[in-house]
Amino acid sequence: MTELCLSGGCYCGAVRFEVQGEPNASYFCHCQQCRKLTGSAHASNMQIAPDAVHFTSGNDSITLFQCGSGRAFSSAFCKQCGSGVPFLGKSGDWMYVPIGSLDDTPEDLIDYNIFWDDRANWYETGLSAPCCSEFPPSE
Ligand SMILES: [Zn+2]
Ligand SMILES: [Zn+2]
Repeated sequence: MTELCLSGGCYCGAVRFEVQGEPNASYFCHCQQCRKLTGSAHASNMQIAPDAVHFTSGNDSITLFQCGSGRAFSSAFCKQCGSGVPFLGKSGDWMYVPIGSLDDTPEDLIDYNIFWDDRANWYETGLSAPCCSEFPPSE
């Protein structure tokens, strides 16, 4: 992956940030913690050096959740709208940027599906469901 210069923010716009640097890796994480924390099939995170992420607004709107057990883990979200925002991993070595919070992203961003063996049993079958441009047809 090459050097990126991206902007992002939460849904309500209180938290805004910029990302400038070369990601170490970007991945879909299918582990159970990520599925619970996102309420979805997987987290989508970019791992990048801490000094690559600069918050430009809303620092005081960020709530940090530290997962007390198991694998080192934390999550940050906007306390007004609940959107995931970048957070420093427990080791302090990497920032994790939720990729869905970015405004524009290159399409070849994702390097890996990690914790693949923990994936939801409806993930792959869901990908093969019929696609609708908006809502599904009414019955
Ligand atoms: Zn927000
Ligand atoms: Zn995970």
